[in-house]
Amino acid sequence: MADFSYDLVVIGSGPAGEGAAINAVKQGLRVAVVDDRAMPGGNCTHLGTIPSKALRHSVRNTIKCLCSALLVNLVGSLFRK
Ligand SMILES: Cc1cc2nc3c(=O)[nH]c(=O)nc-3n(C[C@H](O)[C@H](O)[C@H](O)COP(=O)(O)OP(=O)(O)OC[C@H]3O[C@@H](n4cnc5c(N)ncnc54)[C@H](O)[C@@H]3O)c2cc1C
Repeated sequence: MADFSYDLVVIGSGPAGEGAAINAVKQGLRVAVVDDRAMPGGNCTHLGTIPSKALRHSVRNTIKCLCSALLVNLVGSLFRK
């Protein structure tokens, strides 16, 4: 079995865990971060902040695109044929 040696184990790799781990490393500690997800980043990255901002950005762009005069004319010309 592998043998690990750390000064600190941080549970959770969200913004709080990341900040704690970085601060501890800056103090010279050997740090391990564990998370029950396969990917690091916490709820901020996988559930809340980033996905909701990405959704908002996509919706804004879709609305902008649907309202663009160029697209309206293009779609209109297709239906007029
Ligand atoms: C829909 C939504 C939108 C949001 N939008 C914003 C925003 O615009 N701006 C903003 O500032 N904040 C926003 N937030 C809040 C932000 O996501 C949280 O404040 C932030 O993620 C908290 O960070 P954290 O590190 O404390 O915890 P989390 O990001 O929740 O990370 C905790 C991690 O620890 C893991 N974990 C928990 N228990 C264990 C365990 N026993 N063993 C192993 N791993 C464990 C979890 O799986 C998770 O990966 C939003 C939240 C949501 C839900």
